[in-house]
Parts: sequence; C-alpha cells; structure tokens
Amino acid sequence: MLKSIQPSDLPAPPEATARIVRACSVSDVGAHQLARVVARDPVLTAEILRTVNSAFFGLSRPVKSAAQAVTVLGNRALRNLALCLAVRDAVKPGAIHGFDIMDYWEDALRRAVAARCLSHNVGVDPDEAFTIGLLQDFGMLAILYAHPQKGFAWHELSSLLPNERLSRESEIFGVNHHEVGLMLAETWALPDALALPMAYHHTTDSEDIPTEHRLTCRLAACADEMASVFSAEDKEAALRECRIRIHVAFGLTADRVDQVLELIPQGVEEAAQSLGLRVQNQPALEDIMAEANRRLVKENLSYQELTWRLKKAVAENERLVEQLKEANRALEQIAYYDALTGLVNRRRFHEVFPAEIARHSRNSQPLSFVMLDLDHFKRINDSYGHPFGDTVLQSVASVLKEVLRATDIKVRVGGEELCIILPETDVKLAKQTTERVRAAIAGMKLQTSRSQVPVTASFGGCTWRGAVRSRDGIERVTKRLIDRADVALYEAKRSGRNRVVWYNF
Ligand code: GH3
Ligand code: MG
Ligand code: MG
Repeated sequence: MLKSIQPSDLPAPPEATARIVRACSVSDVGAHQLARVVARDPVLTAEILRTVNSAFFGLSRPVKSAAQAVTVLGNRALRNLALCLAVRDAVKPGAIHGFDIMDYWEDALRRAVAARCLSHNVGVDPDEAFTIGLLQDFGMLAILYAHPQKGFAWHELSSLLPNERLSRESEIFGVNHHEVGLMLAETWALPDALALPMAYHHTTDSEDIPTEHRLTCRLAACADEMASVFSAEDKEAALRECRIRIHVAFGLTADRVDQVLELIPQGVEEAAQSLGLRVQNQPALEDIMAEANRRLVKENLSYQELTWRLKKAVAENERLVEQLKEANRALEQIAYYDALTGLVNRRRFHEVFPAEIARHSRNSQPLSFVMLDLDHFKRINDSYGHPFGDTVLQSVASVLKEVLRATDIKVRVGGEELCIILPETDVKLAKQTTERVRAAIAGMKLQTSRSQVPVTASFGGCTWRGAVRSRDGIERVTKRLIDRADVALYEAKRSGRNRVVWYNF
C-alpha cells in the first residue's frame, strides 16, 4: 500500500525565502523593506549577488548590495531568484537513494530555459517564465524526497513524454507531481502566478484556472514538451508533439518552434552556471534532430518493408487469381468444348441455344439454325480407318471456324453430326453462308497415303424470328428448330446429299 504524501513529508522553504515570499505578497512592499529582509540572511544575499552578476542576467554594471539587487531586479524577480535558490537547496545531494539530483536539475533547468525562450513569443515576463519552468515539476522532486528509497524510478520517468510521465508517476507512487505541486505551493506560500502553473500544466483546459493564469499554465505545458525533446527516449515523438502543442497553444510554426528549441542547450549551460548547478554538456538541437530522423528513417524503413511485403502479397494473390482464371479457362474448355474438334459440345449447346432464342426474342432479330451431317461417313471410316475419320472431323471443324463468323456458334452435337447457330442472320444470308460452308467442305483436299478422299456434308437449316418469354415457350421453340433443321437435313440426304435444304414447309 502506498502511503499518501502529507505536507509534512515535503521539503520546507528556508526561513529567509519564506520571509521574502511573504514580503512580496504584500502588494505595496517597498524596495527598502524588501532589501532589509534579504540582507538579514548574508548567505542568501551572497548567493543572490553572485547569481545576479552572472552572465545569465547580462547586467551592464555589477550589483553590489541587496538594496541594489532589489532596485535592479524589482520585487518579483528578486522573489523569484530567492525561490529558485531555495528550491535548488531544498533537497540535499544524496538524500534520495539511487538518484543524482543534478539529473533532476538539468531537467528542471531545461523547462525553465524553455519557458524563458518561449516567453518572448507569447508575451510573458521572461524571469517569471524561468521561475515557472524551474518550479513546475518541483512536485516530482518532492515525491522522490518523500520516497527516498525509490530514487531509481527517476531514470525511467525522465525518459518519458510529459503526459506519459504523469501517469507513470501515479502508478509508481500513487500520486503525481501535479497534485504534490499544489500541496507544495501551499507549504511554500507561493503566489498564484507560480502555484497555478505548477498545479495545472497538464490540465491546461481546466475550468479551475483563473483566466489571467491560463497563459502561463499553457506556457508551462509547452516548456514541458520542449524539454522532453532533449530528455525523452523517443525524440521523434517528442519533437512532433512539441511542435503540435506549441502550434495549438500559441500558433507558432514548426520552424519557429525549432528556432526556439535551438536556444535551449546554451541557455541551460548558462543558467546552470548562474545558479551554481553542474550539468552535462548539452547536445545541440541538430544532434537531437539527427537522432529523431534516424528513428524516423528506421520507422520509414519498416513502413517500406511493410509496403514491400504487402506488394508481394498482392502480386502473389494476383498470380493465384491468374492461375485460378487459367484453371477456370481449362475447366471451361473441358466443360464446354469438344476435345476432338474444339467445337462447342452438346451440353453447352443445350444451354446456349435457348439463351440465344431468348435474346433474339428480346431484340426481335432473326436467328438461323443449321444441322449438318457428313455423307457416307461410315464408309470413310471403313475404308481409311477410324483415325482418319477423326482427322476428317477435325478438318471439317477447321473449315467451320474459318468460313463462319466468330459469333456463329459451331457445335459438335455428337458423332459426325454438327450444327451451327447463326445469330442475327435471316434466311437469305443464312442460306448463302451455309452454302459457302458446304462448298468449303466439298473442296477440302484430304489425302491418305494412297489417294485423295472426297468429303461432303448435307445441311438442313431453318430461320426463326419471334418473341417468346416463358421458359416453356423457349424450350418449345428450341425443340421446334432442332426438329425442323433435322427434317430439312433428312430432305437433303434424301434428295442426293452434299446440299443445303432450308425448312420452309
Ligand atoms: P449418311 O450420309 O447417311 O449420314 O451416311 P453415314 O455413313 O454418315 O451414316 P451414319 O450416320 O449411319 O454413320 C455415322 C458414322 O459416323 C458412324 C460412325 O462410324 C461414324 N462416327 C461417329 N462418330 C465418330 C467419331 O467420333 N470418329 C469417327 N472417326 N467416326 C465417327
Ligand atoms: Mg449420322
Ligand atoms: Mg452421316
């Protein structure tokens, strides 16, 4: 069970700082009065003078006394400086197990410098911004201070993105720096201007934030994102979120955000020096971006790999579909066509013929139908052998394919009986066409080793034009046309073979 943090568990402000904060909270405290409060603590005075005179403050003339510091800085900046120094000393190095407090300060300084750099773009006093940034995660330090055995958690926490960090803190400690920040603000009697950003920089939309403090809460949230660009494990995500966050909060373009980020490393080194803190060499934004890009490239590579795999899968799929189509074509060939001649088979004929009749019914087009039968084919088989008979059948099929249109349907109904459906063909054209086929068959030059074999065929045709809708009607017409062609064919045989007879009786 996690023990909840009480105010008494938190680091307390040094007496001198508390006095300065109190004095500054009185709106009309005079410079003299405040200088006296500061001067009462010689150590603090020395610290303040050293800090104010550091390059960070960039003052043209050195400040030599507390009174001068108050005049040069103004009440608020002086108070802030005293607070920064107090916070710096709030936790002694080594107080928290497995935790180098300088790592924490480096991180806090980044937020402070980030807030200060961004403040110029959003109209917040830079010193105030710096203090807000430095204090905003003071709650985190206080949590570790209250759980000195869990200092090791810092390493993980500091590598997370700001919001991830907040929830991870709650998981580990049962409390987060937002909540503890609010408690600290009370213990330290911090003014709202500093307390609210501490307590609301992760919930900048909260209704509880008074209007005049919304800007600084948003500034603190952005400072958090900016600092995480340098500290987060996933720099690419940190950079992306930082740019978005600042754009949404203050309308800065990504380029502008990058320009502000660029100022942070040097700012951190200067601020650390002025506050007497030791930080590591700060990597330039360029290096951070290179790292982010490497990550992006890696992710892009895996994206590319994914695309490549997908393409391969699609190609494989297309290949399979093609194979399937091929198999279907082969199946269709087997199912619909006769193996010996390649003509439409009987089964397919019985599907196609009624369909053609129905189609011609709808279009009111004439349809012709012809049956043909080889003459004395039995004799040919008997004289030259069955295989030769097969060759004859194949040759006849070739003639049909050559002479007739592609849209004409050529069928081997069985044995040596063939038929032809001539779509959209009237009597006259059908008779001419059939006559051409007859002549072409009779003109075939079929050679055996011994002699040339004359082959002829007889044809019986009929033409139909009508309109049938029902299935029964279509079936009836189908049967009638077959019968009529058969009758005509019989007549062709009877009247001497090698001729075309049209049914018109
Ligand atoms: P007709 O002029 O009266 O039609 O005389 P035909 O000899 O053609 O008469 P019929 O219809 O009685 O004979 C058909 C012959 O066709 C019988 C059979 O030997 C032959 N035949 C049927 N199917 C095939 C086949 O697939 N290959 C071969 N080579 N011959 C076949
Ligand atoms: Mg026959
Ligand atoms: Mg025959």
